Amino acid sequence: MEKTLEVKDLHVAFSTYGGEIKAVRGVSFDLYKGETLAIVGESGCGKSVTSQSIMRLIPSPPGKITNGSVLFKGRDLTKVKESEMRELRGADISMIFQDPMTALNPTITVGEQIIEAIIQHEGISRKNAKEQALDMLKLVGIPNPKERLRHYPHQFSGGMRQRIMIAMALVCEPEVLIADEPTTALDVTIQAQILDLFKEIQVKTGVSIILITHDLGVVAQVADRVAVMYAGKIVEAGTRREIFYSPQHPYTKGLLNSVPRLDLEDDELIPIMGSPPDLFAPPAGCPFTARCEHAMEVCSRAYPFQTRLTEEHHVECWLQDERAKALLAR
Ligand code: SF4
Ligand code: MG
Repeated sequence: MEKTLEVKDLHVAFSTYGGEIKAVRGVSFDLYKGETLAIVGESGCGKSVTSQSIMRLIPSPPGKITNGSVLFKGRDLTKVKESEMRELRGADISMIFQDPMTALNPTITVGEQIIEAIIQHEGISRKNAKEQALDMLKLVGIPNPKERLRHYPHQFSGGMRQRIMIAMALVCEPEVLIADEPTTALDVTIQAQILDLFKEIQVKTGVSIILITHDLGVVAQVADRVAVMYAGKIVEAGTRREIFYSPQHPYTKGLLNSVPRLDLEDDELIPIMGSPPDLFAPPAGCPFTARCEHAMEVCSRAYPFQTRLTEEHHVECWLQDERAKALLAR
């Protein structure tokens, strides 16, 4: 499969008065053309920092990419000049966020904002930009687009505003779309509509999507592949099928057990007890040790190697690793 983006051994840290927070600790993944890769995990696991680092949008200082690379079209995005990065943002890699109100200007009509974005990126005439803006609003399913261009953001519902953000993110036909909790603020029905829209757009444009979410229901609806993050690391990754039907990491299993399922009674929901480790001083061993019912002596002592189970499915847990026995015997 053709790779659109390759993230290799990414490390990101934030310096604070209390010391350095190691928010992302050696994250690697590929993004294939036309797929949706979901990055899931609890808040603070490093999933948003990972996506912001790809766009080089982490505030620096205090944030810093301390190691690794992000390869896109033969370039390492961690190394290109800021001016080059500005051109890439929006045009090649676009991002949408949870709350469209923070990204849209409340005092300017939606049409003006989209038209401006198009003119800025493509340098085409106003008339052509307006045509393109209309096409975009149609593509994302806004009724009466002609009239709607004259409206302000507050005149749209939450779901419609998110559609507008998606339209703005797509005007320059980016190859990568990063969506950070894009449906978290929406109710379930609207959420399902927006997720359907992502799939439709992907079929029409071939865009590769990185979906950042804590919601496994969302992942089940749209992801082709899933990467599970915990304490700044990808602890398990695989196809959607592999992660949902054959999860191997105790943390992935815990996440799946804590999701409400229609076929189970409420009281069968099992939350994961405890909380993630302090990333000021990450543990040397497996960061899940303190919460893991399978933890062995070796777990707190050394971080597990990656075990590859299939072409896409890999996991970092001593339970999967024959070498654990040898280490235990020492
Ligand atoms: Fe649990 Fe050990 Fe596996 Fe970590 S490495 S998830 S502590 S069994
Ligand atoms: Mg986040």
